[in-house]
Amino acid sequence: MISEKMKPLVNNNSAIRVMFEEGNRLKAKYGAENVFDFSLGNPSVPAPDSVRQAIIDLVNEEPPTVLHGYMSNAGFEDVRQTIAESLNRRFGTSFSAKNLVMTVGAASGLNIVLKSILNPGDEVIVFAPYFLEYGSYVRNYDGVLVEVTPDTTSFQPNLAEFAEKITAKTKAVIVNTPHNPTGVVYSEETIKKLAGILEEKQKELGTVIYLISDEPYRELAYDGAVVPYLTKYYDNTIVGYSYSKSLSLPGERIGYVVIPDEADGSSELITAVTIANRVSGSVNAPSLIQKVIARCVDEKTDIEAYDKNRKALYEGLTEIGFECVKPEGAFYLFVKSPVEDEREFCEAGKKYNILMVPGRSFACPGYVRLAYCVSYETIVNSLPQFKKLYADMQ
Ligand code: PLP
Repeated sequence: MISEKMKPLVNNNSAIRVMFEEGNRLKAKYGAENVFDFSLGNPSVPAPDSVRQAIIDLVNEEPPTVLHGYMSNAGFEDVRQTIAESLNRRFGTSFSAKNLVMTVGAASGLNIVLKSILNPGDEVIVFAPYFLEYGSYVRNYDGVLVEVTPDTTSFQPNLAEFAEKITAKTKAVIVNTPHNPTGVVYSEETIKKLAGILEEKQKELGTVIYLISDEPYRELAYDGAVVPYLTKYYDNTIVGYSYSKSLSLPGERIGYVVIPDEADGSSELITAVTIANRVSGSVNAPSLIQKVIARCVDEKTDIEAYDKNRKALYEGLTEIGFECVKPEGAFYLFVKSPVEDEREFCEAGKKYNILMVPGRSFACPGYVRLAYCVSYETIVNSLPQFKKLYADMQ
């Protein structure tokens, strides 16, 4: 008999599996090239060739006992130092190896941070729409997720409501920029305002509120959009980074958490997060890929390919009549459903072999998410189908 905590997850999982199976069914029936599957955030750009080369070199050069062995639960020290120096060069920060803990992707990074800071009943604020897994992560540690309603005109955070929702129980707020599912990037002005609110509330309530910056899409920013580095705006910032999208390595499960010296209780928190890595069962981030990251620390994915897709899909859809905020980052478009219940729209899309994710999967009904990390041909060939779909929905 499964636990009460797992029951809602098991029931909800079937909806995701139905969509996955629907995609496979359509591909088997019509051929993969005739199915426009915008449902998954799996990078379509392959990892840079330097990653493959680094794997080969490491296997040939490093002693296997080191390469495949246990290390500190925080990860290899030389790897953490290399990443810290890269961050310092890029963002003018002053991190060293001790400020970083290597993690099993951003998902595990968020979990071990939440495990380290939450007591039962502590509140974590998120801005809708948001990556729905945040709710599961917070509930893993008996925290309470508090949602701020979306500002659907800009999809920038609704700061007035945010300020109202901070209570003595607020332990953390999670932000994600560039953003899944809307692709918006929070401007520096927004970050400054958000940091100002947190400073004020900490003083007023006499509490510590951590700002957790979930950054799997940091490197995917277009049109010169600047993605501010949040530790520079607010001392109690914790960064969760991932190479899943920035180097197209989602299956390798590699990322890190940064806890700056300025954060409240920094040294104890770093120890807690390191131990959480161990006791959560991950023990440490995978060893070979940690070493690969150190060798490829300043490598970039081919964001031109995503940018080309972004422009083609945004321009194509808005020309047809669809409404959506122009994304400046990540690889998602969040499109307003032409009918109130976006599940009807998603269902109608299947007639044209178009697969989309309902906005309620991100706590924002009335919209759908399109992941444009697909081939350019898929985008181009989907547009006439979208046109027919739009006409059907009028
Ligand atoms: N956070 C957001 C907003 C995401 O979209 C994802 C994955 O899609 C993750 C976290 C988890 O990323 P990772 O593969 O690094 O665990």
